[in-house]
Amino acid sequence: MSVRVLCVAAAFACLLSACANRSQTESGSLVTSFAPAKALSSPKKADADDPVALTPTAWGRFGNPRGLAGRTIEVSSLSDIKLRDKEVVLTFDDGPMPKKTERILATLDEYGVKATFLMVGEMAKAHPDVAREVAEAGHTIGSHTYRHADLAHLSFDAAVAEIEKGRSAVASATHEDAEFFRFPYLADSRKLRQWVGAHGMVVMDVQVDSKDYFGVSPAAVATRTMNVLRAEHKGVILLHDIHTRTAAMLPALLTQLKAENYKVVQLRFGGHAPMLTASLDRSSHG
Ligand SMILES: [Zn+2]
Repeated sequence: MSVRVLCVAAAFACLLSACANRSQTESGSLVTSFAPAKALSSPKKADADDPVALTPTAWGRFGNPRGLAGRTIEVSSLSDIKLRDKEVVLTFDDGPMPKKTERILATLDEYGVKATFLMVGEMAKAHPDVAREVAEAGHTIGSHTYRHADLAHLSFDAAVAEIEKGRSAVASATHEDAEFFRFPYLADSRKLRQWVGAHGMVVMDVQVDSKDYFGVSPAAVATRTMNVLRAEHKGVILLHDIHTRTAAMLPALLTQLKAENYKVVQLRFGGHAPMLTASLDRSSHG
């Protein structure tokens, strides 16, 4: 991690702490707290795991910024995901994880936006109640293999089996067909992508990697995500609902998205009935 990132994170945390005693009407300070020019001047190192400074109260939560939710896009293939400028899709991989996923669900609900959850099959099997909670909250469901295998290191047949087993486990837990799919480690191949598409699933690519899997502060994740997004102007954002830092920084990220006039759009699978029936049949035999 670069010194610059550390400094930005540190300053961000300081600014957030400074917000603790302010009234909600002064909420504009969070917007400027993302500005690198100010952030770099901070002399204090961020405490990556300081939960106090990152609770909603300490951040001077601004209430629900209405209008963050954008349109719903119906997709049946990757080419249908056509985002306009200032449109983002929130995606959460690797869960469901008790407490963390639930905390993220509460934040998404508070901000009135829907995300796509790419669940790992064995996680969904281990925590079916949380998986169902995600589905019942109206979020879009996808799978992420059964045991988060690196498919690049498996034979084609073994990779397909991993994908199918994962999708089946997610469908069983959520009671919904999982029509979206993301390759673990984004390790795909042309042949596997074709297979996924031919079997009624949409591959979820990534334009904005939050890198929330690095051991950095929540503030650093939010800052990095916004910086990448500003360069891309739009895109599918990769997040993970298994990390505390992700749950901690999500309110700030959503607040910042709203402040910069982004819209969080939801993806909905709009495939044909025969394909859905076929996949549900397969799920019941998995
Ligand atoms: Zn993953």
